[in-house]
Amino acid sequence: MLAAPKVTPFNPPRRVLMGPGPSDVYPEVLAAQARPTIGHLDPLFVGMMDELKSLIQYAFQTENAMTLAVSAPGSAGMETCFVNLVEPGEKVIVCRNGVFGERMRQNVERVGATAVVVDNEWGTPVSLSDVEAALKAHPDAKFLAFVHAETSTGALSDAKGLCQLAKAHDCLSIVDAVTSLGGVELRVDEWGIDAIYSGSQKCLSCVPGLSPVSFSPAAVEKLKARKTPVQSWFLDQSLVMGYWSGDQGAGGKRSYHHTAPVNALYALHESLRLLAEEGLENAWARHHSMHALLRDGLENLGLKFVVEEGSRLPQLNAVYIPEGVDDGAVRKQLLENYNLEIGAGLGALAGKAWRIGLMGFGARRENVALCLRALEEVLR
Ligand SMILES: *Cc1c(COP(=O)(O)O)cnc(C)c1O
Repeated sequence: MLAAPKVTPFNPPRRVLMGPGPSDVYPEVLAAQARPTIGHLDPLFVGMMDELKSLIQYAFQTENAMTLAVSAPGSAGMETCFVNLVEPGEKVIVCRNGVFGERMRQNVERVGATAVVVDNEWGTPVSLSDVEAALKAHPDAKFLAFVHAETSTGALSDAKGLCQLAKAHDCLSIVDAVTSLGGVELRVDEWGIDAIYSGSQKCLSCVPGLSPVSFSPAAVEKLKARKTPVQSWFLDQSLVMGYWSGDQGAGGKRSYHHTAPVNALYALHESLRLLAEEGLENAWARHHSMHALLRDGLENLGLKFVVEEGSRLPQLNAVYIPEGVDDGAVRKQLLENYNLEIGAGLGALAGKAWRIGLMGFGARRENVALCLRALEEVLR
């Protein structure tokens, strides 16, 4: 027998989360998650899932019927889009201007497809003219994949323009909206996005571990026309849809696919309900005004932004670490003395930049003030 480990209940401190995610969770969302667990086929739960679907449709601004939350984090949403839509041997134009574009490329390769990479410098948005040149050079490409809000650098790309280019070249678009959803303007139907995924733990200020996704009718057609079964059983959307909508299950009833993360879905329902109550446009405007406050304060401290004005994400502020400042020591002091978490640099920006998040519930005056005061005191 292994001896039972002596472990006390885990009681985390209350931190202020101003990194690249997870973001500060709304108190209402934490409360929702603590409500009684009921069966995932309980009629009341099924009704909650129907509401959840309409809330995800609102957040994405889409009428797509195939809209749901994957029971796993944003990375699984990314994988869901690639494994369902892309078949072995197909060609995908992948835009890479940070860490997450590179992950898209890896997904494409693992599917057995060919990735044509369009590289743009870290900290800059995806270049429309570079993408157009790649589309022209590869008329056999079936998809254009890009990250709307690159969390590794804080750069925002022109999703509308990129999707127009994709359409003009008969490509389906696959869009990473993990950090953009709820933080900046995003209109799935109006912009003609075909497949999109997001995450619960960024601007939705929900607990981590869920990924809202949506597929356009054209994407659903592509999925239905597959010659080979989707390599992942769990992520195969043709199976999952029978669970999220009644139409495909036996006798029109919702059929069992996997056990939904019941309480986590209560949390997502509440966070999206709060977003709908605030109104998407108000939420976008709030992120912009809090960003402006933070930007002025950071510039007063002499900090320089990685991304040029005009392409900056309000919800993810990447600033260079000043010369001679110890990155780890500063973040440790912020965490220990102020209970404040900011993000380290990722990939090419590791050790060179900090990433300060203003996401969802975290995009508030109190957070901006705390961050600026703490940074000023620690840097002094
Ligand atoms: C965070 C993030 C992901 C991955 O989401 P997880 O919930 O960490 O799996 C994917 N893409 C972008 C742009 C992200 O910021």
